[in-house]
Amino acid sequence: MHIQTPQGFKYNKILKAHSICKNKNSKDDTSLLTSMGSRIKFIKGEKINFKITYKEDFEIFQKLIKKDYRHGIGYDIHRFDYNSKKILKLCGVKINYFPLLGHSDADVGYHAICDSILGALSLRDIGYYFNNKNNKWKNMNSELIIKFCKKQLDVKEYEIVNLDINFICENPKINKYVVKMKSNISRLLNVDKTNIAIKATTNEKVGFIGKGEAIAAESIVQIKNV
Ligand code: ZN
Repeated sequence: MHIQTPQGFKYNKILKAHSICKNKNSKDDTSLLTSMGSRIKFIKGEKINFKITYKEDFEIFQKLIKKDYRHGIGYDIHRFDYNSKKILKLCGVKINYFPLLGHSDADVGYHAICDSILGALSLRDIGYYFNNKNNKWKNMNSELIIKFCKKQLDVKEYEIVNLDINFICENPKINKYVVKMKSNISRLLNVDKTNIAIKATTNEKVGFIGKGEAIAAESIVQIKNV
C-alpha cells in the first residue's frame, strides 16, 4: 500500500499520544497512534496528489503542471530523374517509379518530416547538419537523418504528439504506400500510427509539379516535453 500525507487526527487524541510517548522516535503520527492500539482509517488517495519533499519532487511537479507544446513545419522538393535506372523512395518505402535527384537518397518525405522536427526544437535546417557538399552524405539513406532528429528529441526530452505529412505530385499515386510509410515513421520516431497522417494531392497539372517534374512534401509536427 502506498501511504500519502496528510494524515488527519482528532487534536486531543494525537496531542495525548505525543505527550505520553515523548521519547519515542515514531516514524510518523499514524505509527505512533497504532503502536498505542488506536485504529486508523484509510481514505483513497490520488497518485498525482503527492508530497513535495525533495528537489526532484518539485521538478516532477513542475513537469506535471507545465506541459510544453511546440510545433514545427518542414518543406522539401526534389526533381525527378527520368534517365536513372534506380527507383523512387518515399518515407523509406521503395516505389516502382522514377527516382528523385538529390545528394542523399532524395527521400523528400523524410526530409520534410526532419525539417519539421528540427523546427519544433528550434534547431537549424537539415542542410546545416547534413551539408549537400559533403561527400560523407552522398547517396545517404535518409533514415539516418530521421534517427538524428529522434536523437535530438530524446536529448531535449521531447516526444511527438502527432505528425501531418502532405505529398504534392501528379504521379505516382501515394495512397497505396501510406500504410508502409506510417510503419516506417512509427518505428523510427516512436509515434503511434494513429497519430500520423499522410495525405497527397496533385498540383492540378499546374506549374513544374503539375508537369511531373518534381515531388514536394510538407510536414507539420507537434511535440511535447516528456
Ligand atoms: Zn531533400
